[in-house]
Amino acid sequence: MLPGFVDAHVHVTETGLLLAGLDLSAARSVVEVLDLVAAAVAARPGRPVLGHGWDELLLAEGRPPSAAELDRAGAGGEVYLSRVDVHSAVVSGALAERSRLRGLPGWDASGRVERDAHHAVRHATRFGIDPADRRSLQLLALRSAAAAGITELHEMSAPHVAPVADLVDLVALSAAAQGTLPDVVPYRGELAGSEQDARRIVAELAEAGLPRLAGLAGDLMVDGSIGSRTAALNDDYADAPGQRGHLYLDAEQVRDHVIGCTLAGLQAGFHVIGDAAVDSVLAGFEAAAAVVGPAAIRAARHRLEHLEAVDIAGVATVSRLGLIASVQPAFDTAWGGTERMYAVRLGPRRAVRLNPFATMAAAGVRLAFGSDSPVTPFAPWEGLRAALLHRTPQQRIGLETALWAHTGGFTEVGGPGDVSGSGEVGGLRVAGPATFTCWRTDPAGPADLKGPADLAEPMKPPDLSGLAEALTAGEPVPECALTVIRGRIAFEPS
Ligand SMILES: [Zn+2]
Repeated sequence: MLPGFVDAHVHVTETGLLLAGLDLSAARSVVEVLDLVAAAVAARPGRPVLGHGWDELLLAEGRPPSAAELDRAGAGGEVYLSRVDVHSAVVSGALAERSRLRGLPGWDASGRVERDAHHAVRHATRFGIDPADRRSLQLLALRSAAAAGITELHEMSAPHVAPVADLVDLVALSAAAQGTLPDVVPYRGELAGSEQDARRIVAELAEAGLPRLAGLAGDLMVDGSIGSRTAALNDDYADAPGQRGHLYLDAEQVRDHVIGCTLAGLQAGFHVIGDAAVDSVLAGFEAAAAVVGPAAIRAARHRLEHLEAVDIAGVATVSRLGLIASVQPAFDTAWGGTERMYAVRLGPRRAVRLNPFATMAAAGVRLAFGSDSPVTPFAPWEGLRAALLHRTPQQRIGLETALWAHTGGFTEVGGPGDVSGSGEVGGLRVAGPATFTCWRTDPAGPADLKGPADLAEPMKPPDLSGLAEALTAGEPVPECALTVIRGRIAFEPS
């Protein structure tokens, strides 16, 4: 029995779209991608094809499909295929036409889109989803989270991802389920210029039907991603001389947002990946601390999403200001080390400095683990395994620290920390809220079943050494046998 897993960075509707739609992550050639698109069109003629998960580094041709190819495979209809990191995509001619992409920054005649052009096409494909369809997509994603042992997830809503109604409906769906679906902690990535501005945004969201907002945080973008070469770097990309990505927010904008949120009693936060973006965001936090004081910054528990290219000086600042590092260990499994995507884009020397979990943990930085689903799936045990087997061995952390980062240790990370309103935060304890998960680690059944615990005794932490060994040895992860949220069953195997 363990505390429930908390996934600190999720896009629920996008996850539902992937679960219900076209998953390209297993495709290994442009031809395979085009076959999948053609099959989707044949299955539902006339409907737009929304696919996700291609990675040109894994495709035999070394490039994504072109607009012309999508026009042929998609029978001239609308096709949108996001790259695995969701920071760029390829689109068909019909969709480019309807979204008026030509001439926008980030538009390429090949059909590849990033930045403004990408946001425009997402707007065209996401904002028209019918509320009933959206509800079933959200339900599908939330059930799959519960089946993975996730009891709480942090939704990273933002204007470029989805309309406010998407977040409003998601929070209502989770609240109405009363524990039969995971709890949703809502974030909105909107930039505030002052306290007044922050309060105005919150009031507008409340007006739109959102009862509570944890913060103006999440995917408030300081830069893009390394895979799409939009992460902001201080030096050139190794595989694209002259390119250093894009910085979307400067230190002054970060400062004003942090001051505004701190004074309004909200968590502030940013999506920040490249070293130039980390510099910008930390300079902004330092400037905010100079105005409102470091104690107020620490008390606000602001957070940084991804925080991949942070150096030792940056880690010290993050620790000193009490910022929470919301990181995705599965990113390292997919892209880390000296041979995968990070090394292709940055060269091995810079690649091995990314995602320094052990350095951060040693510096006392609060780590919060997440999946960024649909970028990586709901698979908390694989997240733990990724942290134990970091592709840069010096950055491996122990199972206790990793579990802490992925469970009750950081229920305090999500806004007030107690989504139930009972005033209870934290992991498993006697007389605590009945939110927990049960796991089958051995198909033959538990070997050392103990009698009823003495309720007067404080609960002992479980012995995790066997589990740690199994995970590092590459054995299958434990099977979820039960997910319980405040006494209600959210998942049990059928
Ligand atoms: Zn995200």
